[in-house]
Amino acid sequence: MEKSHQHQILVINCGSSSIKFALFELPKGDVVANGLADRVGTADAALDLVVAGHPLQITLAAQDHGNALREIIKALEANLGDRLEITAIGHRIVHGGEFFRSAVRINEAVVKQIDECSKLAPLHNPAHVLGIRTAFECFPGVPQVAVFDTAFHQTLPPHAFLYAIPYEYYETLAVRRYGMHGTSHHFVGMQAAAALGRPFESLSLLTAHLGNGCSVCAIRDGISMDTSMGLTPLEGVMMGTRSGDVDPNLHLFLQENAGLSLEQTTTMLNRKSGLLGVSGVSNDMRAVSAAAASGNARAALAIDLFSYRLAKGMLALAAALDRLDAIVFTGGIGENSAVIRSKTCAHLGILGIQVDDARNAVAGKSSEGIISPASSSGPQVMVIATNEEWMIARSTESLLSEDPPSASS
Ligand code: ADP
Repeated sequence: MEKSHQHQILVINCGSSSIKFALFELPKGDVVANGLADRVGTADAALDLVVAGHPLQITLAAQDHGNALREIIKALEANLGDRLEITAIGHRIVHGGEFFRSAVRINEAVVKQIDECSKLAPLHNPAHVLGIRTAFECFPGVPQVAVFDTAFHQTLPPHAFLYAIPYEYYETLAVRRYGMHGTSHHFVGMQAAAALGRPFESLSLLTAHLGNGCSVCAIRDGISMDTSMGLTPLEGVMMGTRSGDVDPNLHLFLQENAGLSLEQTTTMLNRKSGLLGVSGVSNDMRAVSAAAASGNARAALAIDLFSYRLAKGMLALAAALDRLDAIVFTGGIGENSAVIRSKTCAHLGILGIQVDDARNAVAGKSSEGIISPASSSGPQVMVIATNEEWMIARSTESLLSEDPPSASS
């Protein structure tokens, strides 16, 4: 096959039990290959990928993250041959603590700092470190960049990022609010600006990233001013299996009245709550919506709770803005559930929010994803598909063009 003169960026997202990846051809951004290694570390681990349009499935029984990534790279080499021309690798990193305000070229010191943040994201950061080390081993000399979920929120002012607890816990243990999903909030914010024909730096937005994890962000003049997630991704709005905000005394109450240990309550709040806990049906919004539509009252209640708590989270974050130009829905739920968008917006009338039912029903396919009525004088309501992998590829590309490999390696 003829060797292309374009270059490729491999984006790697090592999750707690999965590895997602995408291989982009720059400058156009075509996806050459992408896929997911799921249930990594278990006997059922499997790798599903699409390479140059061909779907492939590979079993990964009991492989760790390092070996799973080696299998992904082997599959790319076997199927792309000399069309594989990786010039840079971008890693999605969940937690960068206070170390990182933007994407950074990875060296040993950076790996150490990512590892130090493991106490703030124990399920994710150790997997990221393994992914980075494996990628260096497979592609020696290829520059690698870390793009942090927390970086976009490093602009929060102290009154937004501190908890109202004794200040010494911030000083000694860096206990503070960090926020997550920054790459997605930043990306959809910029897309909204492009769709509205306005500079991102002049917009005031509330963005709602609604996937399995959910968070809201207040963006003023292109800068994150506040967000709903905190020290960990448990704080804030209701999610698939996570409760979001609860009374901080709940741990003690459940210990005294139900005999639950700290660890059991933490597991309950992270893995058995949210849509799953309230509905008793599923953590998946599609299944909860289907159950509600066929008359399941608890599923309907879960949807009402989800929408109300989301609206409350957005209204709270409006305190960080001096005006509101648009609200943006994204993530699997935000992009696909007209019901959640409509129920949430019904609680946001105080912000002048209005939704056009016909536009909402076809959102995503409508022009620029705007679902507020053409006649509305209030903030625009928008539906914008997120693309964190592409954002990571672009950040990797722009960082390396400002800081070329030869200058800093
Ligand atoms: P992740 O956080 O893993 O990236 P996604 O952004 O893919 O998650 O979002 C997953 C959520 O999106 C699930 O709750 C899923 O049910 C929901 N979702 C996907 N498609 C639809 C749909 N058509 N209607 C309602 N919810 C949907």
